[in-house]
Amino acid sequence: MEKKKLLDLAEDPRFIPGIYNYCDRWCERCTMTSACLVYSTLEDASDDPAGLDLHNAEFWEDLQQIFQQTLELIKTCAAEKGIDLEAVETDAVIADAAALRNKAKNHELVQTARLYADRVDRWFSGQFPAGGFPASEDMASDGRSVDPILPGLDEHAQDAIEIIRWYQHQIMVKLVRGLSGNDEEASAENDWQRDADGSVKVALIGMDRSIMAWGTMLETLPDRAAGIHPILLGLEQLRRKTEQTFPCARSFTRPGFDISPLVS
Ligand code: SF4
Repeated sequence: MEKKKLLDLAEDPRFIPGIYNYCDRWCERCTMTSACLVYSTLEDASDDPAGLDLHNAEFWEDLQQIFQQTLELIKTCAAEKGIDLEAVETDAVIADAAALRNKAKNHELVQTARLYADRVDRWFSGQFPAGGFPASEDMASDGRSVDPILPGLDEHAQDAIEIIRWYQHQIMVKLVRGLSGNDEEASAENDWQRDADGSVKVALIGMDRSIMAWGTMLETLPDRAAGIHPILLGLEQLRRKTEQTFPCARSFTRPGFDISPLVS
C-alpha cells in the first residue's frame, strides 16, 4: 500500500487507535475488522467488514454456550482424579526448565503453556496419524487458518480444531510477552493500565476459547475423552494460575474489544 494512502487511512475516524495491540491476530474470526487499520491494509480484506464482524460475533457467542458446561466437567474430572486445579504441572518437562534461556521463558506459566502445546501436538498426531492434518505452525505462519478437513468430523468439530490450533502456541507467546514486560510499563493507549496485563488478557482469552473448543471435541468424540481430559485439566490449571499471577489482567480494557457491543 502506498505511503500516502496509509497515512490517509490512519487519520480515518472509523479506526480505533491501537486496537491491534491486544488482539489475537485472527482477522478471519475477528469481531472488530471494521474498526481496524491493520485489517484495512490487508490485500484480502473483506468488502463488508461490518458484516464479517457480526458473523464472527455470532460464531463466538455460539461457542460460549459450552463454556460453563465444560468447566463443570473439568471440576468433576479433577475431583475424581484427586487433582488440585490451583496447582500447576510439575512433571519432567517442567523439571528440565533449567535449559531455558531467560527469566520469562523459565517461568512456570510459560513452561506449563509449552507443555500444553506439546500435549496438543501429541494428541492430534496420535488421533489422526494418517496425516493430512496441518501442523499447528502452518495455521499461524501466514496469518490465516488452513482448512483441516477430517473425514467424519462435523462443522463444529472442524471449527473447534481450528480454534485449538490457533491458540495452541499463542497462549505461550502472549504469556512470555506479559512476563517480559516492565512492571511499571503502561499501555500505549491508557497510561493507567499495564501493557503486561493486556498481553496476558489475550492469553487468557485464548485459554477460554480453547477450553470451549475442547468441550466441543468432547461432545463430538466422547470415545476419546480419556485423552482429552488430561489436556483440559492442565489448561484449566494454567488458566487459574495465570489469573492468580496477573490479578488485573481480566479487567484490562482492550481498545475496541472491551467497549464494543460485539465483545469478543
Ligand atoms: S484487531 Fe482484528 S482485524 Fe485487526 S489485526 Fe487484530 S484480529 Fe486482525
